[in-house]
This record gives sequence, structure tokens and C-alpha cells, in this order.
Amino acid sequence: DDARLAEELRRMDGASYGRYKSLTGDWSFPDFTLTVERVQSDPFAPPSRVAVRVPAEVAELPDHAWRDPVRRRATADYLVRRAHRELKGARLRIDAGGQQVIARASGRIRDGAVELRLGIELPGHGRRIDARTAERELCERLPDLVDALRWPALDTAEATAFADSVEDTVALRDLLPGLGLVAFVADGAVLPRRSGVSDSPMEGAAVPFTAPESMRVAVDLPHAGRVTGLGIPEGITLIVGGGFHGKSTLLHALERGVYDHVPGDGRELVVTRPDAVKIRAEEGRRVERTDVSAFVRNLPTGADTADFSTDNASGSTSQAANIAEALEAGARTLLVDEDTTATNLMIRDARMQRLVHGDREPLTPFVDLVRPLHRGHGVSTVLVMGGSGDYFDVADRVVMLDGYRPYDVTERAKELAAERADADFAMPAARVVDPRSVDATARGRARVKRRDMDVLTFGEDEIDVRGLTQLVDPGQVIGVGLALRLLAEDGLLDGERTLAQALDALEERLGADGAAALGRGYAGDYALPRRHEVAAALNRLRSLRVLRST
Ligand code: ADP
Ligand code: MG
Repeated sequence: DDARLAEELRRMDGASYGRYKSLTGDWSFPDFTLTVERVQSDPFAPPSRVAVRVPAEVAELPDHAWRDPVRRRATADYLVRRAHRELKGARLRIDAGGQQVIARASGRIRDGAVELRLGIELPGHGRRIDARTAERELCERLPDLVDALRWPALDTAEATAFADSVEDTVALRDLLPGLGLVAFVADGAVLPRRSGVSDSPMEGAAVPFTAPESMRVAVDLPHAGRVTGLGIPEGITLIVGGGFHGKSTLLHALERGVYDHVPGDGRELVVTRPDAVKIRAEEGRRVERTDVSAFVRNLPTGADTADFSTDNASGSTSQAANIAEALEAGARTLLVDEDTTATNLMIRDARMQRLVHGDREPLTPFVDLVRPLHRGHGVSTVLVMGGSGDYFDVADRVVMLDGYRPYDVTERAKELAAERADADFAMPAARVVDPRSVDATARGRARVKRRDMDVLTFGEDEIDVRGLTQLVDPGQVIGVGLALRLLAEDGLLDGERTLAQALDALEERLGADGAAALGRGYAGDYALPRRHEVAAALNRLRSLRVLRST
């Protein structure tokens, strides 16, 4: 018990650091169980890992805080954030999210019991054990933390409002298909961020969102009641406007709208369909046997673009591959910003067509495909394009941002539009991945690591994930690696299933409580990724081999 742990620690004082290893295992405290899961081998190694289980009788969470999966995720997230604040200045660390509420390994509620997973830098004087400090952390700080997280000790109004807010966001997102919308931006939402490197809301100067009357939609939410805002309908929506008028800011908010945001973020009621994927050019990426023939034909190399591979894609072919792969993984809403696209894949004006035509131009621009994509396959597109009017011809709706305010300029744009004959869009071929090419092991052990939000180390490979702009949390980078590992090791990639089917099987495996199933002995922090980012990382794995595409 706790007295035993304190005693044990005192006995270790001054002993060589390695003796900390003997703490591994369970220690019962009056109010909780502490499990020492992994002990660092020296003071400079990554922190040791501990788990804390607070039984339901102690946690005293009311039913409404955890009975359904959405509120359970929200309350767990709230508790982790509370714990994070409580541990300021401690050696104990807990992984709390940023502006998004995402299932993560650090906090989980199961049958009313609260389970936390933390890191701790076990203290040393050089390479000798500093038992005094260790005792203070584990035998004082930790019980204080558990005390502070009991429902009666919480600001219960705040905790309840947190779950209510997340529940409203989820309800709003669930309403989108029935309303024929791909996204919704509430009146009053605050979209701009504090800076290019901060995800917190802009203060003071932010112009709150106001929907144009003609596109305003009203919805009823379980807690907020009636809410109005801009409904972005299925089909093709073009966002235009002068430079610096807020176009990219709106699109970024839509990218993030697949996640739930914390109260006070400003984007709590900005939602996008879960299958929305940001498309961008990504020069230099590898492509493995992807069908880009809808966009690219007759390359000067004579390569078969229905089965296209390269170790170094160009801007346009990388973007074509990104679209094809997103569709393959199940994306049915594409988000595109002129700032990060390859112009020659987006547009081709009449003069250029006269100069470079026929077989000399391998690319079919997106402007010719965006309508067939919707007509034939129900794929919607929201596109920011301030620099060319070509998309007037194909847009269902045109929204102009002027001084951060949106206006419906569809009619005016249609007066300026031209007729455009468009072809059919053939969905890219489905691929079957070679399971042996996805291997998490390096030097005989599983290796899943990350470098910031830039690189995922997976086995012997380093995957560049900088192009995956809808990864929003460092923990998700690890989550992607763990998902890849699960795909490979549990036979979800079996050499028979298509990639899309394997992703379906993955989602099924993860179920409602998502993050927990990813862990499989992984000792560190991680958060739940979407299937789209899992697929995107797999597609960027340099060892990936595709067996066949059909
Ligand atoms: P665009 O893509 O149209 O060129 P951006 O979306 O990049 O414009 O926005 C330009 C600047 O305006 C950014 O610094 C952004 O933070 C700021 N901004 C965007 N929306 C708002 C708003 N609603 N209120 C205040 N500032 C905003
Ligand atoms: Mg922009």
C-alpha cells in the first residue's frame, strides 16, 4: 500500500538509479491503485510511465458525465486538462490536448472508474536515487491529484458545460447529411487564430462570423438550442475574395471542423463532415502504384498513370495522387486552397490551351473534374480561389469574403460564367497492400516514434507527415503509427482486402472508445487519428508495396 511504497522509496535513497526498476508493479493507495508500468534506466532517458486507477466509488462521476461515449470522451478530456493544470511544476506529467477534444491514452473512463496514464521523471542526485523527491511526487502529489479530480471537488458546472458543448458539436455534425450540408459555420464563431503558430482564438480584433442571409440555416441543438449559421451545401462551393480577406482562415476552420473544440475556442460550432480531407500539392513525396489517370495521361516518360509510382512526385502529380488516395480512403468532401495547390492541376485558361494542347499537356485540370466527381460519385468540394474566375463555370455556390464577412455572390458569378463541357470521372482503382511491406519492427522490436509533428518513425522508416494538415495533435502522430502497426500485425492488411476495406476493419476494431485499442503495450502518450490520416501516412511510407490494383 502507500505506506509500503513510501517505506520502499526510503530504503532506496542514495542507491544506484537502476534500483528504481524494482518499483514496477501495482501499489494500492486508500483511494486508488498506482501501477508503475515502465521505469527509465537513467535520469536522462524518456520519463517513466505510471497508471492510476480511481474506482467509481471514489471518482463519484454522475451518470450524465460518462454514460454515453461522447460525454465519456468529453469528461475524460476535461479531467485530463484539470490534471494538467494541477501538475504545474511537478515531475509528474500528463498529456492534455490543445484546442481539440480527441480521445487519448492519458485519460479514460471505464464503468465510471477514472484511469489516467502519466509520465514521471524519477528524480536522482546524479545517478543516485533521490527518494525524498520521489516520495513527494508519488505519495503526496499523486493522492492530492486524485482528490482534486473527484467530482465533488470539481467545478461541476464547468465540467458539465464542457461535455454539453462537445455533445452539441457532435449533434451538429451528425445533422449535416440530413440537411444536405458538408459544413456549418455558426453565426458568432471566431475563426482567426492568435498567430500563425498558435491555435488559440484571436483576441479583440476578431470579426465574428455572420452568415449571408441566403445561405443561413437554423438548427436545434440539445444544449445550445436554436443556432443559426452558414450552411455549406453538398456540391461545389467556391470561396472568393481579395487577398487578406479571410479565405484561408475559413478553410482552415473547415479542415479542423472534423474535430470537436473546447469551450471558448470560437470554433465549437464550426463543423465539417468526418470524411472531409484537405487536398494539397506535396512535391517530393513518394507515390506507390496509385491510379492518377483521371488527372494525368500521356506523361513524356510513357509511364502508365493508372498504376503510377514515383519516388519524387512533382507538384501536380503529388496533388493528383493526394486526391486519388483520399478518395480511395473514403473522402467524400474535398477541401482545397489555392495557396497550397499546383496551379497547373487546378486551372488552364483559354490562351494556354491554344498554345499547349492535345498530347502535349498530360494534365486534366481539376476544374474539369470537380463537377463529374459530384455528379457521378457524390464527392463535394469546397475550394478557395481568389486568383481565377474559371471555377465560376462549375460552382454551385460562390461565397465572397469581404472584410472577413461572407456574401453570397452566386448570381453575379453565374452571369460571368461560361459553358463548360465536362467528362466523366472514373474513381481510382482500389489497391491491395503487401502486408510484408508495412513493418513496425526495427532491430527486433516495435518502433513507433515521432519528431515533433513532422516525422513519424515507423520501424526502419521515417514518414514525412508534414503534408497531413489535419493531424492536429502530437499524440495523433503516434496514434497513426500505432494504427499502422495494428493494420500490419493483426492481419487487417492480409494481401486480400483492399486498402479501403482494411481501414473499415480498423475502424471497427477501434470501436466507440477508440484510443484504448491502439495501445497494445505502447508505454507513451498517443491520441486517436482519423482513418484518412492513417491512410495518408501509409501512402507516404517509403517501404510500401502494393500487390495489385483493381
Ligand atoms: P486570405 O486567404 O483571404 O488571403 P487569410 O485567411 O490568410 O486571408 O487572412 C488574412 C489575415 O486576416 C490573417 O492574419 C487572419 O488571421 C486575419 N483574419 C482572418 N479572419 C479574420 C476575422 N474574422 N477577424 C479578424 N481577422 C481575421
Ligand atoms: Mg489565403
